[in-house]
Amino acid sequence: MQKLVVLGAGESGCGAAILGKKKGFEVFVSDKGTISKKSKDVLLHNNIPFEEEKHTEQQILSANLVIKSPGIPDTIPLIQAIEQKGIPIIDELDFASRYYQKPIIAITGSNGKTTTTLLTSHVFNKADKRVIIAGNVGQSFAKQVASEIDGDLAVIEISSFQLDRIETFKPHIAILLNITPDHLDRYNDDFELYAASKMRITKNQTKEDYLIYDADDEILTNWLKDHPVQSTLLPFSLVKKIENGAYLDKKNITITINNNQIIMPTSSLTLEGNHNIKNAMAASTVAHLLKIRKQTIRESLENFQGVEHRLEQVLKINKVQYINDSKATNVNATYYALESMDAPTVWIVGGVD
Ligand code: ADP
Repeated sequence: MQKLVVLGAGESGCGAAILGKKKGFEVFVSDKGTISKKSKDVLLHNNIPFEEEKHTEQQILSANLVIKSPGIPDTIPLIQAIEQKGIPIIDELDFASRYYQKPIIAITGSNGKTTTTLLTSHVFNKADKRVIIAGNVGQSFAKQVASEIDGDLAVIEISSFQLDRIETFKPHIAILLNITPDHLDRYNDDFELYAASKMRITKNQTKEDYLIYDADDEILTNWLKDHPVQSTLLPFSLVKKIENGAYLDKKNITITINNNQIIMPTSSLTLEGNHNIKNAMAASTVAHLLKIRKQTIRESLENFQGVEHRLEQVLKINKVQYINDSKATNVNATYYALESMDAPTVWIVGGVD
């Protein structure tokens, strides 16, 4: 029997453990911290052995496969010992995707992941498709795959930490929203390494798969010039005309895929700001690509409610608007947020995710 060790007993770790057990692995879960009651109940209920507040090397180094929580740094001696023994270490998303047969839409970037993930799933929901949402949003992908909920497609938000441990993950459509220096400390302050990690989203794609990306992001476009990918490219831009992909033509989003065009006025978007025009372009390119009706795409962009606390207009008093952006997590997010205001604004920020 193959042995699977799961490091970290959070939502993704527990999901991976359940899926591993279901797929016939001998599973052991190890967490250096204390395990929450919720996770313990899940593990006990599924008869999965675990340890907390320690990592027993002997147990861990006898694994055939290790799934590591993205929160555990690569630099700790345990991870190095596992690697020295040649035991593969992968991410829960990679593991779950091995047992998922429907198309995967994977969304990454420094900013806009959650918004674009929810917007994309909203469009498909409006088209009566059953969507699995996973990644940082909701239940772990592995847990959903283990429950045999497969839906019509999966929309997955994926961080660069998760991408670092991708081996076989193969999204049919990848969205790369932007690359800005965020969490650089994890990459020895080496921007190249950070960018390379984001580009791993295309690692297993072929020309039948698609990469939707921001053509206005110089880092990204330069990277693609220097490191060509297999994927079919569908760029989006606010400033230049795009033949195959999406661009802003005056006040209209125009998306062309193989001469099939959809045009949508930006004035009807419920989400504010240029950054959200980009998120809307990315989400509707996916929908257009997967042949959702144009009318459904337009309507769903008109009634999307947004992500709670992400640039949310909370109040307007005497023509001054109050914006709650308490989850803006880096400087670039802040820049875009301010740029999108056209009325006198009180901007409420702060707070930790
Ligand atoms: P993430 O999930 O990547 O943290 P969110 O969708 O939660 O991103 O948005 C976080 C903040 O990032 C928002 O409040 C907004 O100000 C900013 N933002 C959203 N989309 C983009 C984008 N495409 N480009 C730059 N900034 C963005």
